[in-house]
Amino acid sequence: MTFRATVLTLYPEMFPGPLGVSLAGRALAEGTWSLEARNIRDHAIDKHRTVDDTPAGGGAGMVLRCDVLAAAIDAVADGRPVMAMSPRGAPLTQARVRDLAAGEGAIILCGRFEGFDERIFEARAVEPVSIGDYILSGGEVGAMVLLDACVRLLPGVMGAASSGEEESFETGLLEYPHYTRPVEWEGRTIPEVLRSGDHAKIAAWRKQRSIDDTRLRRPDLISRHGGAEGSSPSGAQREK
Ligand code: SAH
Repeated sequence: MTFRATVLTLYPEMFPGPLGVSLAGRALAEGTWSLEARNIRDHAIDKHRTVDDTPAGGGAGMVLRCDVLAAAIDAVADGRPVMAMSPRGAPLTQARVRDLAAGEGAIILCGRFEGFDERIFEARAVEPVSIGDYILSGGEVGAMVLLDACVRLLPGVMGAASSGEEESFETGLLEYPHYTRPVEWEGRTIPEVLRSGDHAKIAAWRKQRSIDDTRLRRPDLISRHGGAEGSSPSGAQREK
């Protein structure tokens, strides 16, 4: 079953962009997923092909018209979830990404200017999704983020290299840090334990580093997941 992505945008020429290379690009070429970028402007209803208008209540910028957006959505709607990139949406999580990747695909609306007429969300059951607490100039890069995260989870895309199960966020923790040769570089060495060949010790070290680094860098993850079991931040087990 192919994961089908439809992106509704004022700039379809931005796609596939980065999604056309590396893992996602190969999977696209192989038909593991499909991508169609459609111009919202094709659904404009006046002769000037207008897609936006000034904000009700006044203020700067322009707002994407709900009638035009609805026509663009209705032309492709087929049961796949309809999402809109928006800083007002729920922050995207790996759990939501997994969910989406297990489905048939997604229809993704990309905003520009001040964003969308709010009425579109209820009228077409559109799910607003944010990629983080900062403002982009448009939803296209956000849509690429969302699709990249989904596509790498599709069967066969990552190969045997990683099931992804130990990766950051999959466990509610950040992943442990990685090292590779050379063993010594600019006076810095790979932690001894990783060279010990003792798999139990290595697993314990990695678990501890996951917990420690998450506490230090992302305390919000610890509270969100009800606290990683066991152990205080342990400088003792940490090798520099
Ligand atoms: N005035 C809006 C921001 C508009 S930015 C506000 O303050 O909420 C223009 C478009 O960029 C948005 O419609 C959205 O599609 C996209 N965008 C900006 N920041 C984003 C973010 N953090 N996540 C997802 N999409 C974003």
